[in-house]
Amino acid sequence: MIPYGRQSIDSHDIDAVVDVLKSDFLTQGPQVPKFERTLAAYCNAKHAVAVNSATSALHIACLALELSAGDLLWTSPNSFVASANCGRYCGADIDFVDIDPNSGNLSVAALEKKLTIAKANGRLPKVLVVVHFAGQPCDMREIHALCQPFAINIIEDASHAVGSEYQGVKTGSGQYSDITIFSFHPVKIITSAEGGMALTNDPELAKRMSLFRSHGVTRDPELLQEEAPAPWYYEQQELGFNYRMTELQAALGLSQMRHLDRWVEQRNLLAKRYQQAFSNTVIKYLPVSDDRLSAYHLFVICLPDNLKLQHQTIFEALRAANIGVNLHYMPIHLQPYYQALGFQVGDFPQAESYATKAISLPLYAELTTEAQDLVIETVTQLCEGEMQ
Ligand SMILES: *Cc1c(COP(=O)(O)O)cnc(C)c1O
Repeated sequence: MIPYGRQSIDSHDIDAVVDVLKSDFLTQGPQVPKFERTLAAYCNAKHAVAVNSATSALHIACLALELSAGDLLWTSPNSFVASANCGRYCGADIDFVDIDPNSGNLSVAALEKKLTIAKANGRLPKVLVVVHFAGQPCDMREIHALCQPFAINIIEDASHAVGSEYQGVKTGSGQYSDITIFSFHPVKIITSAEGGMALTNDPELAKRMSLFRSHGVTRDPELLQEEAPAPWYYEQQELGFNYRMTELQAALGLSQMRHLDRWVEQRNLLAKRYQQAFSNTVIKYLPVSDDRLSAYHLFVICLPDNLKLQHQTIFEALRAANIGVNLHYMPIHLQPYYQALGFQVGDFPQAESYATKAISLPLYAELTTEAQDLVIETVTQLCEGEMQ
């Protein structure tokens, strides 16, 4: 099976992990701060807090922004469930902003409309989680401009988008948001096996996220509420978690950073090959705006409306041909958990309609052109042969 995404590991990565195994620290050593400094510098962000997953990063981001019961978090229905669940962990209510089907990203027009209604009803969100779907940054300038008058905090869920750029600036720089989070799950752009990171330019948010990452406990003399009366003294100041990244993970993530730019370039080259192959067919794909560089976590095609074969039939035929396609995403609001909270079919029609057409094709740095050609041929034959 050609997977839809997979990691690349070289001997340098393996050596980096083995070196940690032979060292004094398997956790809480020098690798985690080094990985944090390296990614922060790459993104031109002031602070970075590494954790054991992007899900944990989203949680501590919401906690640092003091999201709590009675508050409201908005996000995109076209995302992984973690983008919404982070608000639920804090006891907040969730609502969604429908997508622009041309990008799969949150629609600026839908956001503007929803904000007007929310303002009239006196129920504005405290946090907006935008998702850079497939690796293409959202319309951050416009989104920021809409949120600013209401002091809505913005978290960028950039799980798909490390290495991407918006108007010439790297995602993670925090130009239009409070916190940006990345995922290092093996299907993402770079991996630490499991792992995530939260970036911010605000020293207070960075301090709070660090506290929540590790039990809410600190020994830092500058943060202690009382002067340390004894050498063993530490304080638990918040109800935190153990969300720490291990040294093994950080060493792997750091080693993977060497390849980041090349891998993003390679993903863009492969995406261009797909686009050229599909340009004279019925198969549509999500274009990337001229002012952005996508990290191309995913290459998504959208089936035309007038196909004889159903979405599911094409999907199954591709899987049967050993092509590991996937659907990103079943709309979050239609998950049983969210339906139990009151959401229903029809609430976010663009995201729902998109999910009846979208198929993610294999895309990863080491995808060979032979494998890609097989995907192209199979997809094209299935769709072209089946027009009504
Ligand atoms: C992968 C992903 C996450 C969760 O990442 P983990 O590191 O697996 O916790 C969150 N949001 C989006 C959009 C993702 O794709």
